[in-house]
Amino acid sequence: MGKIKVLTPGVIAKIAAGEVVERPASVVKELVENALDAGSTEIKVEVQSGGRKLIRVTDNGEGMTPEDAVLAVQRHTTSKIENEKDLWAIGTFGFRGEALSAMAAVSKMRVVTSKGGILEGVEVEVEGGVTKGVKEIGCPPGTSVEVQDLFYNIPARLKFLKSQGTELGHIGEIMAKLALANERTHFQLFHEGKLLANYPLRENPSPRLAEALGREADDKMYFFQSRNEDVEVAGYTGEPDLHRPNARGIHLFVNRRPVRDRLLTHAVMEAYRNLIPKDRYPVTVLFVQLPPAAVDVNVHPGKWEVKFADSEMVHRRVFLTLREMLDKTPWLKKEDKASLRGVRETAGAYFRPPDETLPHSFLPREASHPQTGPHFFLGQIDKTYLLFASLDGLTIVDQHAAHERILFERLTEEISQGSIRQQTLLFPEIIELPFHEARTAAEHLLDLEKLGFEVIPAGERSFWVKSVPEILTTREPLQALQDLIGHISSWGKDAGLPRSFDPLFQMMACRGAVQASELMTPEEAATLLTNLQNCVSSSHCPHGRPTMQKITLAELEKMFGRK
Ligand code: ADP
Ligand code: MG
Repeated sequence: MGKIKVLTPGVIAKIAAGEVVERPASVVKELVENALDAGSTEIKVEVQSGGRKLIRVTDNGEGMTPEDAVLAVQRHTTSKIENEKDLWAIGTFGFRGEALSAMAAVSKMRVVTSKGGILEGVEVEVEGGVTKGVKEIGCPPGTSVEVQDLFYNIPARLKFLKSQGTELGHIGEIMAKLALANERTHFQLFHEGKLLANYPLRENPSPRLAEALGREADDKMYFFQSRNEDVEVAGYTGEPDLHRPNARGIHLFVNRRPVRDRLLTHAVMEAYRNLIPKDRYPVTVLFVQLPPAAVDVNVHPGKWEVKFADSEMVHRRVFLTLREMLDKTPWLKKEDKASLRGVRETAGAYFRPPDETLPHSFLPREASHPQTGPHFFLGQIDKTYLLFASLDGLTIVDQHAAHERILFERLTEEISQGSIRQQTLLFPEIIELPFHEARTAAEHLLDLEKLGFEVIPAGERSFWVKSVPEILTTREPLQALQDLIGHISSWGKDAGLPRSFDPLFQMMACRGAVQASELMTPEEAATLLTNLQNCVSSSHCPHGRPTMQKITLAELEKMFGRK
């Protein structure tokens, strides 16, 4: 006899269930998605013991007939698609007809449902995948699905569940995501009878930001949107000061489906490059809308992943849309927040047809030049902070961070023209390098030239330095050169890509910038501010620290009790 055995249906069902149902939060996700697919405007989620003991989702959707309810808990039964072709035109969250049966296989499930108009409802009870009872029952229109004792028949899975608090946290997180994308539905989450989260029905997604992400995040988030015939990109994203230690603040939706997607995450991160500190993540709610045929949603058991037909195009659109908004630095003009909010109240229409949505130009463009009149330099504090008065408030500039940003953008601009502008030294200087770095330097003479250093070998480990970058002439160019060579020796094969210049330019800008604790003349201070205001990303230095802060007139008035 051979070694291969045919698995029993019970085992097969449990294996399949394991893919769809990972933890209580996946049950909540599937049940709420079913409720949304049924057109519900009220969805109540009740859990006990972090979802281990009980998850009950009650909705006011279209309900099921008794026959459908009996079928629904079987494997591969769905009302959402009929044939293979339909897989390319999916407009619902569900489509595989798997979730209810998978959950029923690993729990004790009770479905109570009724279609409005039909007097009687039905109750279907399933235990470990086996239907235990079907009976008529009186109930309001809609559906309530109870999942009790999840994984009671798979002890191995049960062991993998985390603490109640952790599982509850995951449930709260998935509810927040679903609430962000479905503002026209009222969601409630109860734990042990206590209301934990309440998302009242809203006209547009903007109030949901505060409800789902907290007031602080909401205060610092701004609307973005772009649309062409291929894709619509819209959402809210945080100012650079709002950053988190992990990517959990980045909420991604494709056709309103919450997804995890490296490509989209990367596009968001790219938009924030040089705006937020290294190893930190922005807070972003991103909605990507595509024709159903341009995205494959059938690639992940929990439907957490999608595949784009043209991923490069999607990446580019997301990056450009976010970057364009960030370049406007609306957060520098705090007074605009009020008017932006006004915008946001109506901006939620981005799922409506094009002509009804907001023109792009409606968002205040002049925000990147926040000064409304001349700034008067008042003085320097601690030889580090420059104070400027203007008609609409007080501007405080960190002189080093500001100068870094200016030099960084200048270097980026110069390299895009070909190479960094050089200054020939009156007297060439000689530097001596450690053996390893001397080899790096010898191999990268042309790159160094491009970066503004004219370097000529003078011996085994020594080099003549004849020219240095203009921005470094008044600083210590040789130290910068050594730093640079240190950096270059860690370069990989794709040395020379513009992307790999970033850390070099950060370093050179830092070396070249006026330091904290240097005195500045009023003329220098004024020039610094003007140059800063001409920067594309003026609000933050290339390491992600703020370059300037503003105290508005309104804030001053409030401070002094005049308002
Ligand atoms: P899918 O959502 O992929 O179709 P499910 O197993 O989640 O598969 O659900 C099976 C079917 O049961 C659905 O296609 C739908 O017709 C019905 N159904 C499930 N939940 C609900 C609900 N809350 N309200 C109305 N019908 C539901
Ligand atoms: Mg479903």
